[in-house]
This record gives sequence, C-alpha cells and structure tokens, in this order.
Amino acid sequence: MSTSTQPTREMTPAYLQQAYQRLIDALPKTGAQAIEWEDLFWRWNDLKCWISGEFSRRHFKEMQDSRDKAAEDAMRFMREQILPLAETSDATLREAFLQSPVRGALESALSQHLFTKLELDQEAFVPDNVALQTQEGEISSQYERVRGGAEVTINGETLTLTRAQAKLTDPDRAVRQAAWEATNAWELDHRAQMHGIYDELVTLRQQMAVNKGEANFVPLGYRRMGRTDYGPAEVRAFRDGIRQHVTPLLKRFREAQARDLGTETVRPWDAAYYPNLSLGPNVVPVENQLAQAQNLFDRLHPTLAGHFKAMVDGGLIDLENRPGKCAGAFATAFEDEGKVVIFCNSTGTDGDVTTLTHEMGHAFQGWESRPIRSVDLRWPTSDACEIHSMGMEFLALKEITAFFSPEDAKRFRRLKLIRTLTLLPYIAVVDAFQHWVYEHPGHSHAEREAAWVEAWDTYNPGIDYAGLEDAKATRWMRQPHIFVMPFYYIDYAIAEVGALQLWRMAEEDHDKAMTAYLELCRIGGTRSVLGVFQAGGLKSPFEPDVFKPLMEAVAAELGV
Ligand SMILES: [Zn+2]
Repeated sequence: MSTSTQPTREMTPAYLQQAYQRLIDALPKTGAQAIEWEDLFWRWNDLKCWISGEFSRRHFKEMQDSRDKAAEDAMRFMREQILPLAETSDATLREAFLQSPVRGALESALSQHLFTKLELDQEAFVPDNVALQTQEGEISSQYERVRGGAEVTINGETLTLTRAQAKLTDPDRAVRQAAWEATNAWELDHRAQMHGIYDELVTLRQQMAVNKGEANFVPLGYRRMGRTDYGPAEVRAFRDGIRQHVTPLLKRFREAQARDLGTETVRPWDAAYYPNLSLGPNVVPVENQLAQAQNLFDRLHPTLAGHFKAMVDGGLIDLENRPGKCAGAFATAFEDEGKVVIFCNSTGTDGDVTTLTHEMGHAFQGWESRPIRSVDLRWPTSDACEIHSMGMEFLALKEITAFFSPEDAKRFRRLKLIRTLTLLPYIAVVDAFQHWVYEHPGHSHAEREAAWVEAWDTYNPGIDYAGLEDAKATRWMRQPHIFVMPFYYIDYAIAEVGALQLWRMAEEDHDKAMTAYLELCRIGGTRSVLGVFQAGGLKSPFEPDVFKPLMEAVAAELGV
C-alpha cells in the first residue's frame, strides 16, 4: 500500500525534476548498509506511485470523451513533459540499484523477481528512444481518437462504431448486414489513414530497435511486455498448438453454424450470430447492470462482493457507451490513491456481461494486490493479468442467472464457450501478423494486407469473404492492440489456457477454484507468468499437450 502521496500538488516538470534529483543525490555512498538502499527504494516507490496515478487519471479522462480538448492536452502534457523526464531519471536510479554493492541483501529483502524486472526494464531502456516513445504515444492516441469519434448511419440512425458493432448479434439478418456494411464502409473510407498511422508507428518502433542495435523490433517488443519466461520460438509453438487443436474444431463449428443459419457458408455479418443462442440487443439494460453484477458477486464470494460494492459506491466504474467515448474496456489503478477503476462501453448486450466480469477480474486482482508495497510488483505481466479477468468470466458462469433467465443463462454459457473457440484462433492471427510486420520493416501496404490474410487463413478459417476481399484484408484495423500495444495479444490466449483450467477446476469443485483464484489475485505481480500458473495449481501454457483436454471439454459442451 502506498503510504505517502501528493494528490493535491500539481505535477510540474520542475517539481518532478527536483524530486528525482533529491533521490539521486541521496543514493547511498560506498560502504552503506542495505537498509539505506531500502529506505531510498521506498521513497522512489512513492514517487512512481504518484506518476503512475497521475498517468492513469489523465488517460482515463481522455478515454471518457474523445472530444474533450482539455483532457487531450492534459494527457499530451503528461506524455511530452512528464514521462520522458521520469523515464530518464528512473533509468539512473534503476542502474544504481542493479549495480548496488549490497544487491544480494536487497534481493533477499525486496524480492529477486523485482530485480529481474528492473533488469529487463533497464535492458529495454535506450536514451535515444525516449523522444520516440513520446511520439509513439501521440500517434497511438490519434488512432483512439479517430475511432472513438467515428459515427456511422444505419437505417437512418447515427451510431458510434461500438454501438454499430453491437448490432452484429441482432437476430434480424438485414440489421446485421446493414451494421456490417456501414462499419465496413467506414473502415474502407479510412483505409489509407489507418495504414498511414500504422506506418508511422511501425517506422518509429523499427528506429527504436535500430537505436538498441537490433535488426528489428521483435526483441524490444517482448522486453516491453516484460516477458521473462518465453520468446518468439515458444510463442510460435504455442500458435501451432492452436492451429492443431483449436482450428479444426472451429472449422467444424462454422459448418454447424451455417447449417443452423440455413445458409451454405457463414458470411461476415453472420459470423457473430448463432441462431437460437443470440440473446438480443437489449437483454441486459445498462441501467440494471450494476445491481445485477452486485448480485452475481454476492453469490460468488464475499470478498468479491465487498470490492464491487466499494467501487460502485466510490463511482469507480464508468459503464455505459456514449457519443465521443473512446471504444474498448480496461481496468487501471490510481496507485497513489489506492484505487482501482474500470472503463466499459456497455450497450445492453450479453457481451457487456462478459466485459464487465472481465474488467472486474482485473479489478479484483488490483484490490487484492494492494498490500504489496512495491508498485512494480503489484500487477503481473499481462499474460498473467488476463488469467484474473478471463478466469472470472468462467467462474461467473455458475451464478450468471444474476443477469439472465435460466434459459438465457444456458445460452450464455454456450456463447461463452463459442467465444473461447472463436477467440483463440483470432488471437493467433493477430499475433502472427504482428510478428510478420516487425520482421519485415519497409513492407508495402499490399504486402501488409496479404500477410494479414495469410495469417487469417492459416488459423481462422470458416468465414466466407467471397467478393469482400477488401474487408478481409483490412480487418486488422479494428484491433487497437495492433496499433497501441504491439505484441499485447497472445497474452489473452496464454491466459485463456489458465482460465479454461480454472473452469474445469470449478466444474469439479467451485470452492477450490475460488480459493485458487483469490490466491492468484493476492500474489499480484510478485512472480513471472509461469510462477503465477504454478501458484494457481495450473499447468504451464507451454506444455505440448495442454490444449488437447481443454478443447475436448469445449467440443463436448458444444457438441461439435
Ligand atoms: Zn483484460
């Protein structure tokens, strides 16, 4: 838990510069005891909490309204004036701790994993890249703003892209097709602009790699994700596991879906619609969702119920979609205030329930990890973080009648497994595409689109894009991670392997799964991803046959 904060003080570069200089001047002299280093570490930790909190607050505000100029400027100030200063000073302090003559004693006192993390951060730090990272953040936020501000018209109704996409599950085929066509037309109108934004980002990242003396961005991309347990070779083998064990099942499923639809093939506007399963556009009215979620968590576990209630009471959940609000959903912490917040875009569909339970999974971990004093150890790497969120999606199934009638609850459960089945291959597409992009600097737009299509066909067959080749080739533009957080995507598949194991555990013994889940939340980021799997009693995602029994269970449930 953070002890000292300066929430009322304005964060200026001059003040921050002074604060860092005081820490650097206070670095222990030769012969100092470990305790002096520790004291300094905690002072540094407080400063990091403040900066992190300030970043999250400004980012949250910016995402809440893409048209809020003041919020945009406040975030730009953070990116341009604060973060570069903090990054450079953090590197100085980090280096001092890594070179400390009493490092062994510090590792025992503060944790060895912390030092592994500091080492990795230091390895990823290149002074020449600080300015490039500022530009990268600016261009990324441009992507968010363009999409957040986008509106399309469907049958005379003007909608955000998020609301338009929600109509892809509408039972009326004409509505689905109109929604798909309108969003696709928007994508194609912005094809050159999206390529342009991505060009700038890819070029910047390639330059960062060159500055580090590396041939391409892949190793730096992995380091930035904090990955210590695996590299591109393990990820390739993991994608192979998806191709071998999930893709064939998906193919069979799409054939069954076409039969249910009464069509020869599954067309893109039908891909997210499953006859007899779709729950309709307003199955969970947004105004009921918080009370229903409270009911769900009350039934699941008192600890979860308490955290949720505190968030609702504290106004820490921004739930509904509205014009100008940026798309997507996330959880984040205001570390200096000891608060966790979530951001959703609820529109009334069953997908909202998935998103809300997902983001609450992150939030539960955030609250449970608060007693971990080092901010660097509170959140694990995202591949482990997503176990909390995706695991909660599965654990929630048991009490999901808090949101749905018993019949709809059965449908929702089935839909959840279908989502897993369709998600894993799609993740492999996004991941394979990104590796290709960064392994081929200087590629053309046509080559880029061809690489996407090839990855799509390899892992994710079964949707008929005949006559709609442009739509297929530009489908990646919809995926924010590709632009904003390179390589952050396979994490979801790695975590889903953990989440599926929690699901199997819960089917046998719900209390046991709940205990394992809370333990995973409590340890936060004190271990690397494989250490987290181990702590939850879960098999490593990189074991060769890990997919087989899990997919057999999914196939049995779905009857395909
Ligand atoms: Zn997540």
